[in-house]
Amino acid sequence: MTLRIDRRIALLIVAACLFWARSGEAWAEPVAPSQVQGEKTVALLKKLIAFDTSNAPGDTRALAEFLKTQFAPLGAEVDIVVAPNGKAAHFIARLRGDGSKKPVLLAAHADVVPVERGKWTEEPFAGVEKDGFVYGRGAMDFKGGLAVFARAVMRLAEDKTPLARDVILLAEADEEQGQFHTGWLAKNHWDKIDAEFALNEGGYVLQQRDGTVRQINVTTAEKISATFALKATGRSGHSSRPFPSDEMANNRLISALASLAAHDPMVKLVPASEAYFKALLPISSEQAAVDIRQLLAAKDQSELETAGKKLVADDPGDGLLVHALLRDTMAITMIDAGIKPNVIPGDAKAVVNTRLLPGTTTDQMIAEIKRVIDDPNIDVNIVTSMSPQEARDYYAMRTKIPASPLNTALYEALERNAKRLWNDAVVVPTMFEAGTDATAWRERNVPVYGIYPYPLDDDILSRMHGNDERISVQALHQGTEWIYNTVRDVAKK
Ligand SMILES: [Zn+2]
Repeated sequence: MTLRIDRRIALLIVAACLFWARSGEAWAEPVAPSQVQGEKTVALLKKLIAFDTSNAPGDTRALAEFLKTQFAPLGAEVDIVVAPNGKAAHFIARLRGDGSKKPVLLAAHADVVPVERGKWTEEPFAGVEKDGFVYGRGAMDFKGGLAVFARAVMRLAEDKTPLARDVILLAEADEEQGQFHTGWLAKNHWDKIDAEFALNEGGYVLQQRDGTVRQINVTTAEKISATFALKATGRSGHSSRPFPSDEMANNRLISALASLAAHDPMVKLVPASEAYFKALLPISSEQAAVDIRQLLAAKDQSELETAGKKLVADDPGDGLLVHALLRDTMAITMIDAGIKPNVIPGDAKAVVNTRLLPGTTTDQMIAEIKRVIDDPNIDVNIVTSMSPQEARDYYAMRTKIPASPLNTALYEALERNAKRLWNDAVVVPTMFEAGTDATAWRERNVPVYGIYPYPLDDDILSRMHGNDERISVQALHQGTEWIYNTVRDVAKK
């Protein structure tokens, strides 16, 4: 008897130790992905790839009609919104909950970038499965995500899971550089896509060479793209009789661009980047952890600059992402000057694309460019189809959008279920250095969490928008389990 009690106590102690050793946060049973459900996602993805939705023209009508045939028999409310161009079709499926909570939305773009057909070894619009991979345009970006999201919603419907909130699947059109994207949809049909929070594309589940996943990036904010035109003017005439250097447009532009090329905007630690670096600490190398602590503890601008430079220099990769998260960036992307070899042109132009951190305004960036080039005779203007005031208002609104909060049921479920699949992984909230179409929700105060919902290695990432794009079957199986469990946790009664 005594012995039995002792053994029970000992077992309890062992169990408690195991519990605490696992993690400081809520710990849940590890799960293995369901083979059957994973295969259903693979089968759906192959069908989605077979629709050529290359943008332009971004014709997603047939794909939307196909999704309708998949969702309608399951009792989902289905809707197709075709944009005024007659091609961009947004598909929306809604499972009804009891209305006690606001909807959760899963958004995935159904259009893809075009292919250079001759450079593919597999047919890009067939959904070929070979050696453990599904090949095809969109396999990773983002028909794979669409298949994972769609299957999560379909499975809830198939199982007749009682729901406390509506679950909405949106297969978006015109994400890849069209005008009838989610911004247009939100403006014209907000009621169809309004939600408490949403998933969209964004951060990477980073798979290491040995196949393990240690870092899962979830994007909660993004930088803002703003483009500026520089125009230098000067005397024009015969190239055999050059004017003094500062009277020629090309020369003025060249020295302005040389100043910009040598300039790196100052280090700024915005809340979204701060959260990112903090979350990285547990999986950082010793050196990186020292650098991060130094950055987080910086008391003034000069300490920030020193720490920021060190973090980039010590980065085991190329340091470009760290650099982009710490600064507004500028890149000279276009130069346009001259009409003939023997003519000195009267003007010369260049385009500078900047990526602004939240909080930086376009007026501040114009002032910075002007200060750096230090030439009052060069015009600096924002490139936009809006009026100057509209543009100012638009960018002022964009730069004020806060990062999506981490204390929502959706973020917590994403994190919890990720750790059940990838036990050693850390979920890292981050800012996207480029842009997505999540702004449509974030600007309306709806949190959006961006993910490519499957493990990705360097090889898969290098094929994104490139040739022989593919995604591994195993990654699809894992993503299927992750997203289904997440959405069910958030939506079930
Ligand atoms: Zn994409």
